[in-house]
Amino acid sequence: MYEFKKEIIKELRIKSGMSQRELGNRLGISDRAVSKWETGLSLPTSANLIRLSNIFDIPTKYFFTAHHCPIPQIPHGMESLTELYKIGRGPSSSHTIGPEKACLEFKAKNPQADLFKVILYGSLAKTGKGHGTDVVILKTFHPIPCDIEFDYSEKHLSHPNTMDIIAFKNKSVSDTARVLSIGGGKVVFEGDKAPNSALLYDLSAFSEISDYCTSKNIRLWQYALERESDSFPEYMKGIWDAMKDSIRRGLNDEGILPGGLNVAKKAKSLFNSQHIDESAETRENRMVCSFAFAVSEQNASGEKIVTAPTCGASGVLPAVLYYQQQKHGFSDNQIIQALITAGLIGNLIKTNASISGAECGCQAEIGSACAMAAAALAELFSLNIDKIEYAAEIAIEHHLGLTCDPICGLVQIPCIERNAVAAMRAINAVNLASFLWNTRKISFDRVVEAMKETGHDLSPSYKETAEAGLAKIKL
Ligand code: SF4
Repeated sequence: MYEFKKEIIKELRIKSGMSQRELGNRLGISDRAVSKWETGLSLPTSANLIRLSNIFDIPTKYFFTAHHCPIPQIPHGMESLTELYKIGRGPSSSHTIGPEKACLEFKAKNPQADLFKVILYGSLAKTGKGHGTDVVILKTFHPIPCDIEFDYSEKHLSHPNTMDIIAFKNKSVSDTARVLSIGGGKVVFEGDKAPNSALLYDLSAFSEISDYCTSKNIRLWQYALERESDSFPEYMKGIWDAMKDSIRRGLNDEGILPGGLNVAKKAKSLFNSQHIDESAETRENRMVCSFAFAVSEQNASGEKIVTAPTCGASGVLPAVLYYQQQKHGFSDNQIIQALITAGLIGNLIKTNASISGAECGCQAEIGSACAMAAAALAELFSLNIDKIEYAAEIAIEHHLGLTCDPICGLVQIPCIERNAVAAMRAINAVNLASFLWNTRKISFDRVVEAMKETGHDLSPSYKETAEAGLAKIKL
C-alpha cells in the first residue's frame, strides 16, 4: 500500500528556498492549502501532484512511501555560457552534435573495437534519419564499421533522446553505454555524474540576477564576466566570428538542401531581391530574414553554425545582431556584450525549463532564441534591465505552445522560415518593451515556468517525433 509522504513537500519547498506563499502562487492555490498538505490535514489532488513534480523536477513516485528514495538535490545555479554557445555541424544539436560527441568519446574509450552498434530510441529514432543522426554516427566511427538500429517501440525512457552504443571485439561485446542527448549538443553517459556540472553562476532566476546587478549598478553582461573565466571574452569573440561566417557563407550559397524535400536555398535571392520603391521597413524585414535564412540553410546543409541556443534555432540571434551591426555600425565588442546578455537569458531558460524541442516543443528552441535575440537587441540599445526583461518576456510569451513538427523530420519546413519570423518578432518585442515596460504584469521567470509546464503537457506527437501537425504533410 502506497502512502503519501506529507513531509516531502516541506523538505522540497525549503530546499528550493520557497515560502508556502510562493509555492502556493506557483500552483495557483493559497498558502493555507500548502500548509495543510505539509501538516497532513489534506492531500494534493492528482493534478496538483503532477504540478508539484514539475516544479521540483522529480517523478510523482517520490511522493509515496513505497519509494524510499533520497530526496534529490535541487541544483541552484547555472553553468558557463560556453556550455550554451557551441560551434558545431547542424542540423540538430541534440540529433547531430550530441550523438557525434557521444560516439567520439566512446570510440576513444574503445580503441580495440572492430565493430560498433548504435541503437537509437525515442525522438532520436523517429527523426534521426531526417536530422542526419545516422550519417554523423557513421562518419564519426569511420573507418570502423557501425550498425545502426532505429528502435521505434514505445519505451519508458528517462529522456526522449536516448541511444545505446555497443563496442565489439572479435564478435564479442567489449563495452556498452547508454547515452542521453539532453539538448544544446550536451550528452550524459548514464551512470556518470552530470557532465560539466560546475555551476559558475550562483544565481538561477532573472529576479535574483536583476537584484544583484541593480545593487551593484552593473549590466547583465558585466555580471557574466564576473563569473566566467579569463578566456571567456576570447571564446565569445570566436562565437561571434563563427556566426558572421555562417551568414556570409549562407548568403553566397545556392542549390537544393539535402534530404529529398527539394527545398531551394533562398537566402541569396532574398538578400538581392530589392524592389525599386522598397520602403525602409520592407528592406529591414528582407535583410533580417535573409540573414536568418542564411544561417538556417547552412544548418540544414550540415555546415558549421553556432547553437543559439540550438542548431534548429541558430538563425534568429545572429540575424538580428548582424543587421544591427550593418545598420548602426556597432563594434564587435558591443555585439559580444549583447551576445553575453542573450546567453544569460538562454541559460536561465535552459536551467529552469528546457531548450530542447524533443522535451518541450519548438517554444523551447525558437521561443528561447527569440527571447535571447530580444534581450541582445535591448542590450545593444542600452535599455535598462527592466526593459531587457520585458523584451525577453514578450518574446518567449508569444511562442508558448509552439509545436515541433518538422516535415519528414528535416530541419527545413517550418524551421527555416520560423527563424526568420522569430528574428522579426524579437525586434518587435524590443520596440514594445521600450514603450510599455512600466505596465507589465508578468515576470520573465514566470513565463519560463509556464513554458516548462506547457512543454510537459504537450503531446509527445508534437515534440520532435514527426508524428503530427505539419509532419503529417507528404511532399
Ligand atoms: S520545429 Fe522548431 S524545435 Fe522542431 S526542429 Fe524545427 S526549429 Fe527545431
